[in-house]
Amino acid sequence: MGYTVAIDGPAGAGKSTIAKLVAKKKKYIYVDTGAMYRALAIHFLEKKICPEETEKVIMACEDADVKIAYENGVQQVYLNGENVTSKLRTEEVGNMASKTSAIPEVRGKLLELQRGLAETEDVIMDGRDIGTNILPNADVKIYLTASVETRAMRRYNELKEKGAVCDLEKIKTDIRERDDRDMSRKIAPLKQAKDAILVDSSEMNIQEVVDTICGYCK
Ligand code: C5P
Repeated sequence: MGYTVAIDGPAGAGKSTIAKLVAKKKKYIYVDTGAMYRALAIHFLEKKICPEETEKVIMACEDADVKIAYENGVQQVYLNGENVTSKLRTEEVGNMASKTSAIPEVRGKLLELQRGLAETEDVIMDGRDIGTNILPNADVKIYLTASVETRAMRRYNELKEKGAVCDLEKIKTDIRERDDRDMSRKIAPLKQAKDAILVDSSEMNIQEVVDTICGYCK
């Protein structure tokens, strides 16, 4: 097992931004587990399956092959041989991932892939259940959160920068719904592990969060 840092927390808390920067500073490999759920979501969308059609989702898992590669230290996600990295970060894919990630077979499909990556490398892995389920013995566990208002505003600014038309109230509603789904599902719900350090970034800038987390890591 390499050195392992788990970062869990709700959507929009800044996990991936922070984890990437910590990875760079500490020379860890950054593993984005949400991207794996998103890759499966693309597969379900391509097959025109609704997230409520659980049986179809489970069947579709059988012909989905998700692989991870690192190119210049940046995670690339392959779905059945195709690099889907640039397609992962849409709202449609995020919503499908959030809904289908509550299905045990979907989680089971990705569990070994995630654990396997931490076996040989020093990793910082972000997600919802890393500290509670995937890497229960992680060397450092962080629960990174921020208020709904802060998270919605960050998302709004990010979309605006990309030139997208967006509505702050709708983003807030989406975030609340996603939190609710992630926290209330039966299998591997989002929650702070008993031994995780709580970092609330509502009033912190990126550098402050990175420095705080690096302070806990080797
Ligand atoms: O983090 P990201 O927004 O990319 O994750 C997409 C969705 O995948 C989340 O809303 C969550 O439901 C699910 N997910 C999960 N467990 C993880 C990572 C992501 O259930 N470890």
